[in-house]
Amino acid sequence: MTFQIQNASMVELKQQVNLIENPQDVLFTIFKQFKHRAAIVTSGQLTGMVQIHLAAENKIPFRVCTIDTLRLFPETYTFFEQVEARYGVEVERIKPDDAEVEKMVSEHGEFLFFDSRSSQKFCCEIRKIKPMQRLLETLDIWITGTRHDQSETRQNFKKVETISSASHPILKVSPLFEWTTEQVWKFVIENEIPINPLFLPDTNGHYFESLGCMTCTTRIRPGEPKRAGRWRWQNTIDTEDNNKECGLHYAI
Ligand code: SF4
Repeated sequence: MTFQIQNASMVELKQQVNLIENPQDVLFTIFKQFKHRAAIVTSGQLTGMVQIHLAAENKIPFRVCTIDTLRLFPETYTFFEQVEARYGVEVERIKPDDAEVEKMVSEHGEFLFFDSRSSQKFCCEIRKIKPMQRLLETLDIWITGTRHDQSETRQNFKKVETISSASHPILKVSPLFEWTTEQVWKFVIENEIPINPLFLPDTNGHYFESLGCMTCTTRIRPGEPKRAGRWRWQNTIDTEDNNKECGLHYAI
């Protein structure tokens, strides 16, 4: 069943999107009404790719953006070029402010994130959160790939949330929120959706559960918490899966 919402208020839209189970119908509903005021924001994770695939295959005009911290893996930059070629869509790269990066590096060094958690958070603020805040000023709907089983923290997220940018309310929507890791992989394989090669296990069976900056993201071993590969040096000062959010999902 396909929903079509015209001129719905944020509250009404939130209620209606919550009732739509099919992610494809969620995307149709949102992009039909909000067009370029809505965007799939992805780092190239599998869920983001599923959403891009669903929108493209169903001829839903859509916008897709990524936060380019200028520290992503070379494989990730190449991958986004492949995504653009495959789906005929521009992946908008939202970058940090040059002057802010230059100031941060000159005052604190290139690798400040190793110094302390607060230095890491400062770097994430300059390279990720501020660009995200700028992007959000252009949006009414932020479509994200978060799922409930990605971490303990994310179990507290919701499929649809009302948040607020500096200037206006925004609906943050996770169409695949209820999907499990197994469901995502099954869909990706069955539909031959392109994936970043870094997600494939290495010869030791270690793999990237999520992809961020090259300097701060490592593979995890089977059985490790899913966020353990982020800022791995901090795992000794925290429980491994505790407080491993860069703040992007609390950007406003
Ligand atoms: S993940 Fe690391 S390099 Fe990237 S913005 Fe955060 S602290 Fe900086």
